[in-house]
Amino acid sequence: MKKTGFISIIASALLLTVGCSAAPTNQIAATPTNSTTMKFPLQRTEAEWRKLLTPEQYHVLREAGTERPFTGKYWNTKEPGIYRCAACGEILFKSDDKFDSHCGWPSFSEIAAQKKVIAREDNSHGMKRTEVLCANCGSHLGHVFDDGPTPTGLRYCINSASIDFAATNSVSGKK
Ligand SMILES: [Zn+2]
Repeated sequence: MKKTGFISIIASALLLTVGCSAAPTNQIAATPTNSTTMKFPLQRTEAEWRKLLTPEQYHVLREAGTERPFTGKYWNTKEPGIYRCAACGEILFKSDDKFDSHCGWPSFSEIAAQKKVIAREDNSHGMKRTEVLCANCGSHLGHVFDDGPTPTGLRYCINSASIDFAATNSVSGKK
């Protein structure tokens, strides 16, 4: 019996709202799209992720979803603090690097430390973009574009659902 090796991928016709200019970035070395099998330090089954995350977080983090602009928790947050991966808790971004991009998503010009995120080519939805993943657990965070402020020139456009904010004040106790 012959089995056709075709896997039909049904690309759901998503109405993706791409904020600001979705210019393709070429400043970041993105790994090819076919590297979906890459191994991350933190491994969990999708069933485990489903238990740990809210349905919205699961959709964004594990299914590369995008929250609607201006609806997330942090698009307009200006308090000092840190932003962790909502899936694994790694510190990914700092408020020092957050800027107002008028996009409706939290935007950062830099990551908290080198190698905290992984950039990957994303050619879905008929666009050429660079997807950003948590380097520790492989969860989807958002995309990076090359129209950010100096000195990096980068704009990490991140879903609020993918990150957890901790204010510096609540840690140090001074206000
Ligand atoms: Zn993570």
